[in-house]
Amino acid sequence: MSEHETNNRWTAPEYAEADSEIELSLRPKTLDQYIGQDIAKENLSVYMNAAKMRGETLDHCLIYGPPGLGKTTLAGIIANEMGVNLKITSGPAIERPCDLAALMTSLDEGDVLFIDEIHRLPKMVAEVLYPAMEDFAIDIMVGPAQAKHSIRLDLPHFTLVGATTRSGQLAAPLRDRFGVQLRLELYTPEQLGDIVMRSAGVLQVPIDRDGALEIASRSRGTPRIANRLLKRTRDFAQVLRDGRVDEEVARYALEQLRIDELGLDDFDRRMLSTIISFYGGGPVGVETLAAALGEEAVTIEDVYEPYLMQIGFLSRTPRGRCVTALAYDHLGIEQQGQQSLF
Ligand code: ADP
Repeated sequence: MSEHETNNRWTAPEYAEADSEIELSLRPKTLDQYIGQDIAKENLSVYMNAAKMRGETLDHCLIYGPPGLGKTTLAGIIANEMGVNLKITSGPAIERPCDLAALMTSLDEGDVLFIDEIHRLPKMVAEVLYPAMEDFAIDIMVGPAQAKHSIRLDLPHFTLVGATTRSGQLAAPLRDRFGVQLRLELYTPEQLGDIVMRSAGVLQVPIDRDGALEIASRSRGTPRIANRLLKRTRDFAQVLRDGRVDEEVARYALEQLRIDELGLDDFDRRMLSTIISFYGGGPVGVETLAAALGEEAVTIEDVYEPYLMQIGFLSRTPRGRCVTALAYDHLGIEQQGQQSLF
């Protein structure tokens, strides 16, 4: 299946099947190769060294941040740096407590269990997870219906790494059981430029710094998007030029993909102009906006808004979302108080 069919939005930060191969090869394997996120990285390095010095397993880690920012990558780095295996699963994939029990009993001492989208773990499963995280033991029910009784099963000491895009949705008892909590931030264009240069090196794409920065500045602060746009730019460079990615070819490719110089695509522009034309620039509630755009409210909150807020185009008020003067300027629309403009 082509990337167009699986992912009709170039700047979607979610994982698309077509990304799988490239993602694997581009993933940094050590903390040194992991660019940016200095605070999270420095703290994690201290915790990992301390655990190693004491000969213990690393405390459970919760990583939060929007999709595509490097949560899975960081889990892999933790396992690699601690010299243990990594098992990957996700909240919605663990439907019943026995699924979780099967997973946990298959771990070796010290292993990292990575649960993506941990906020979507069913409640019944989360309840089995609590004692497992605290006491490294689980209680499971055995026996026939009339004589069911619970037995306690010891587990190896493992490190749970949970990832979530929304820390607010995590039940407090679960959140409190993570000794380490790391928040990932959107990347600066310079950091993303370094990531693009590194990825181009891995993919053996000749590129100069200006070309990398051109891609980086349109990637919404998100490495997954930067890597994807690099791949597409490489195609244009190969077919239209000598294969070398420079500023000019990057700019041409991104224009062809309808991604503007700030990384906004057609959907972002439609969302901002909908708020302006139908709701006088806001405030408008996210549910109302979602209905007007035919998109889910959670997607708007997790995927589109973080970047629009980071670049100061959108503000979130208790009464809803508002478009800022900066966004009016960017769209070339004159701000006229609360009046509808179209
Ligand atoms: P998430 O789990 O947060 O959705 P991933 O860990 O899958 O994000 O990261 C997406 C891609 O971005 C990875 O394949 C990796 O190549 C790249 N990436 C993420 N963070 C970094 C980083 N700090 N340095 C270099 N590349 C990164």
